[in-house]
Amino acid sequence: MSSRVETRRLTVVEHPLVQHKLSYLRDKDTPTVHFRKLVNEVTLLLTYEATKDFETEPHEIETPLEPMTAQRIHGKKVAVCPVLRAGVGMLDGVLSLVSSARVGFIGMYRDEETLEPVQYYMKLPADLEERDAIVLDPMLATGHSSSAAIDAVKEAGAHSVTLVCIVAAPEGIECVHERHPDVHIVCAAVDRGLNERGYIMPGLGDAGDRLYGTK
Ligand code: URA
Repeated sequence: MSSRVETRRLTVVEHPLVQHKLSYLRDKDTPTVHFRKLVNEVTLLLTYEATKDFETEPHEIETPLEPMTAQRIHGKKVAVCPVLRAGVGMLDGVLSLVSSARVGFIGMYRDEETLEPVQYYMKLPADLEERDAIVLDPMLATGHSSSAAIDAVKEAGAHSVTLVCIVAAPEGIECVHERHPDVHIVCAAVDRGLNERGYIMPGLGDAGDRLYGTK
């Protein structure tokens, strides 16, 4: 067994399906109903990458034709923790692949003046110390709210943390990796940077508003 701990791990999923769907997410003319479905689909594809190091173990089964040794995921326990509200739009995408996962919710909003996260709700699985956490936050902008959400799941004892986002800014990646070098970030794109209001450029706008049609 290797004792090497990988640090500052970033995976940008460049699969054509992800990039194709992302182009529709970015398009301002994509309606809410399609946006929601696309977030779900992109998250499913990102989850495929985020879970690719799950260990498997041999398992004896019988096919209709003969016995064989097949591989099954080794006793993995997962907690999926969306950051409210936009992270909730990604939840079904993960659960459709990791159906036994428990779900924790982290309520965080961004103070539009300071751009600092304010936590207003937290409900995490009781047995988080037995679980690997997948934190969901579609837009890794300043990285402050994702880092605060990661703080929360670590304080609650999570084994390991993977952050799955859709679009990341270099500033956000730097912030998360500075505070949490052990966290693997999985995203579909790294964009140019932030504008003066803290939005990712070119980005896709306000993910929460586009998911829930609130603007
Ligand atoms: N949150 C969003 O929804 N979009 C951004 O571009 C930045 C933060």
